[in-house]
Amino acid sequence: MTDRHILTAVAWPYANGPRHIGHVSGFGVPSDVFSRYQRMAGNRVLMVSGTDEHGTPITVAADAEGVTPRQIADRNNRVIVDDLVGLGMSYDLFTRTTTGNHAAVSQEIFLGLLKNGYVFPQTTLGAISPSTGRTLPDRYIEGTCPICGYDGARGDQCDNCGNQLDPTDLINPVSRVNGETPLFVESEHYFLDLPAFTRALGDWLATRGNWRSNVLNFSVNLLEDLKPRSYTRDIDWGVRVPLPDWRDRDDKRIYVWFDAVVGYLSASIEWARRSGDPEAWRQWWQTPDAGAYYFMGKDNIVFHAEIWPAQLLGYNGEGDKGGTPGSYGRLNLPTEVVSSEFLTMEGRKFSSSRNVVIYVRDFLARYDPDALRYFIAVAGPENQDTDFTWEEFRRRNNDELVAGWGNLVNRSVSMAAKNVGAVPTPGELTDADRALLATTSGAFDVVGDLLGRNRQKAAIGEAMRVVGEANKYLSDQAPWKLKEDPARRDTVLHTALQAISDCNTLLSPFLPHSAQKVHELLGGTGTWSVLPEVQEVTDLDDGSPYPVITGDYGRGAAVWRSTPLAEPGTPLAAPTPVFSKLDESIVEDELRRLRGDDPA
Ligand SMILES: [Zn+2]
Repeated sequence: MTDRHILTAVAWPYANGPRHIGHVSGFGVPSDVFSRYQRMAGNRVLMVSGTDEHGTPITVAADAEGVTPRQIADRNNRVIVDDLVGLGMSYDLFTRTTTGNHAAVSQEIFLGLLKNGYVFPQTTLGAISPSTGRTLPDRYIEGTCPICGYDGARGDQCDNCGNQLDPTDLINPVSRVNGETPLFVESEHYFLDLPAFTRALGDWLATRGNWRSNVLNFSVNLLEDLKPRSYTRDIDWGVRVPLPDWRDRDDKRIYVWFDAVVGYLSASIEWARRSGDPEAWRQWWQTPDAGAYYFMGKDNIVFHAEIWPAQLLGYNGEGDKGGTPGSYGRLNLPTEVVSSEFLTMEGRKFSSSRNVVIYVRDFLARYDPDALRYFIAVAGPENQDTDFTWEEFRRRNNDELVAGWGNLVNRSVSMAAKNVGAVPTPGELTDADRALLATTSGAFDVVGDLLGRNRQKAAIGEAMRVVGEANKYLSDQAPWKLKEDPARRDTVLHTALQAISDCNTLLSPFLPHSAQKVHELLGGTGTWSVLPEVQEVTDLDDGSPYPVITGDYGRGAAVWRSTPLAEPGTPLAAPTPVFSKLDESIVEDELRRLRGDDPA
């Protein structure tokens, strides 16, 4: 199906530091492969995300450095923007949650839920300092995690097991300010009435049989025990609560997770406002046949398969209490929650503090982005936890990308350049020629179907199998032995180059950087695959400056089928290698870096 509106909603990286390759193997590369394929297949993609900048970890970091939370967010927003551009992530808009637009959209969703009765006030216990009588924000309370027993858990979450907590959950809570035991007194908060969505969420999930089974099973199990969840927090950093008595309060904000997921909508609206047609976002959110695909690591499923759909259902008036849509009108629920499992590093969990990590920027300083994208696509954690090892990265790069695909391109273009100096003129095709071209042109349906269903590992496996067929054809036909028969040699070379062109199209969603190079080596002109760019913009409401990622992706190839090579006679130059072989020494060097023994 073509000409559909497809929203690619990519998980929002938290603005607490640079991204490592575990992060981008979950939300990053898969969402970009999907978006690039959908654009090539003729659909209208809107790919949005941004940095998630509210919540306690940012304020804790700011306190530790003696700067403002905004300064921490500004710094990390820019670092993450650079990481994602370097990887070739083709966002239509990558923005941030500290914009005026995002606050306004988050507040509209809150008010729509409140109007329909799905958000209600409730008095809970909040902490105060007994010696000063002042409110003690969640982050200033520390204690033992009731779930995993970690003794440094904070009042809002446990960094060890990752569970969200309330301060009253902690065992032996103490103030981080002065060590005293906090006093819990009544504090008013607003709650999202999740039980009122049990039926509606269940009905919706019952129509989602095409999801990855682990994601669907996990989501269905969440429905067994839905409880109201606090929509607001005792914190001074976040989106203000849009109520007359609360709007100006410095101790109450919307809970970071509830505003972060609204980011998909607010970023779409910001994109539309910047595009000159402020209503354009509606095509992706309100057209009945529009698709909405959400990409993330598995630790975020609860927020995308339960919390965000509940917010949307409540805003639409589609939970047990009924209601009517808010001022935006009815909003579409996710079509699919596409969640990856976890990537580990040399057998261990990624950990910045324990130095079990390779950051995207360090990776890209030493290796090609497409080498990383290839590894994640072919060996990433699509359906199960997967280990990244440097030995396996090197092997995949050298044996598959360089020896398989790069070498096919290199030796075919070299022979054509050397013998003809141009795209050769084909004569009559033999059965073997026709068989290869049938294989390559026939692969578009198979690979496209797999990509449309987010079976990316199988999709790149099939594309690389076709590359193998082309290599076998070249070995069998041995055009280098056809000096005496230049007409046949030219036919073989033309067939090989056509097959390479088809393979390049099939691989373009995965390898956008090298796809442009191969396109040019084959005598192609113009832009084949478009890379994202950073633009410095100002906030649409308050004028403050920030960088966004965007791109003019409509300039790229919008074909998902075999397209004819450049005309015979189009000059071809001797190629430079498309990919670089990695020396054995990189493995030992990288392992030494992991041990903290930098080879410099
Ligand atoms: Zn814990």
